[in-house]
Amino acid sequence: MADKNITVEIVTPERVVFSEQVDFVVVPGIEGYLGVLPMHAPIVSGLNIGILKVITGGKETKLATSGGFMEVNNDKVVILAETAERSDEIDVSRAKAARERAEQRLASRTHDVDVARAEMALRRALIRLKASGNE
Ligand code: ATP
Repeated sequence: MADKNITVEIVTPERVVFSEQVDFVVVPGIEGYLGVLPMHAPIVSGLNIGILKVITGGKETKLATSGGFMEVNNDKVVILAETAERSDEIDVSRAKAARERAEQRLASRTHDVDVARAEMALRRALIRLKASGNE
């Protein structure tokens, strides 16, 4: 087990965000966080807005992600994410501005505010701030 690992590929419509062999990965699945170790059973799951963690040699890399799909098969995890950023790629001022915009929209709730859209934008901003250690 010690020398066994899994390949994780995280891809968005824009780029390959992450492609490495890791010890394990924790993914924000649609029904809650899901840990994937080597020899995991094959699964396909939807992804939620959340923090994705990859752990290699005790070192943890965090990414903010916002939905998509994950497939686990044969010690390979393929994640097709709508968006994904490593914590060190996150533009904190941009996420703070997005949080503020969404909060203002939700507070005003004038007829032209799409509440569901503002709530999703707020959740994405909060996860980016959390992943970058700026809660
Ligand atoms: P904004 O209103 O700031 O654009 P958003 O939540 O609407 O935020 P998304 O639609 O989720 O943005 O993402 C659009 C693109 O911008 C994606 O490529 C995503 O990775 C990137 N992105 C969004 N916010 C940030 C951020 N704070 N730091 C780095 N990249 C970001």
